[in-house]
Amino acid sequence: MAIVQLTEVKKTYPLGKTEVQAVKGVTFDIEKGDFISIAGPSGSGKSTILNMIGCIDTPTEGSVKIQGTVTSALSDREITGLRHRVIGFIFQSFNLVPVLNVFENIEFPLLLDRETMSKTKKLEWIDYLIEAVGLQEWRKHKPNELSGGQRQRVAVARALVTKPGIVLADEPTANLDSRTGENIIELMKKMNAELETTFIFATHDQAIVDIADHVIRLHDGVVAENLRVNSRRPAAARPTSPLSSAAPSSANGRTK
Ligand code: ADP
Ligand code: MG
Repeated sequence: MAIVQLTEVKKTYPLGKTEVQAVKGVTFDIEKGDFISIAGPSGSGKSTILNMIGCIDTPTEGSVKIQGTVTSALSDREITGLRHRVIGFIFQSFNLVPVLNVFENIEFPLLLDRETMSKTKKLEWIDYLIEAVGLQEWRKHKPNELSGGQRQRVAVARALVTKPGIVLADEPTANLDSRTGENIIELMKKMNAELETTFIFATHDQAIVDIADHVIRLHDGVVAENLRVNSRRPAAARPTSPLSSAAPSSANGRTK
């Protein structure tokens, strides 16, 4: 099932008396549970696309569908709800709250939840995430006492705490040395497999591109390449539908 669908999406920003066409008519589908890299050189429109999927920016033309809903048809309130329930963000610069410790930073998105989990469930879940990202001994520490890699681990756990269907990560390894970056990628891949969360990266980090299930390459605001690799995921992990045998992408590995 496609969890994200972009159809002929365009984004134009005003720039003085002229305008910049950041995205020039982009169409692609993203399947639930995939690990996706939106790649391309600086200025090719990666962040703009990620922000439109994350509903923090709106297309000038075309449509973005999240779980089948056209986002531009939603009210501000519905958008806020969708963003909170369905989407988690990981940023290049970590964006942790400096006065909160590791536990509190991870807990933070849950404070906005109205249908709160029971206190015990919440504690168990946060503890599970802290352990999953390997920060048990750091739970009381503030961000300024952590390394870049540890901060990004906190950000990964925070993005997952609301159990979102989609995590969006904009160049999450760009501020990390390559070894630390690889650790973070491994961690995200593990969370992707364990929680069946769809991860969408804006990145040209080859280590992410190499293990991605789906690579969408942008060039100057258009899709230059759209490759999906199915073979790495066990077929049983995919939802089956009576129509799926008719879809060419389900059988033959790398397909366009
Ligand atoms: P990438 O993430 O691939 O580096 P971006 O999506 O950030 O690319 O930018 C694509 C193009 O849109 C660039 O030319 C950039 O300068 C322009 N752009 C992005 N955001 C804005 C904005 N808010 N106002 C004006 N131009 C923008
Ligand atoms: Mg960018």
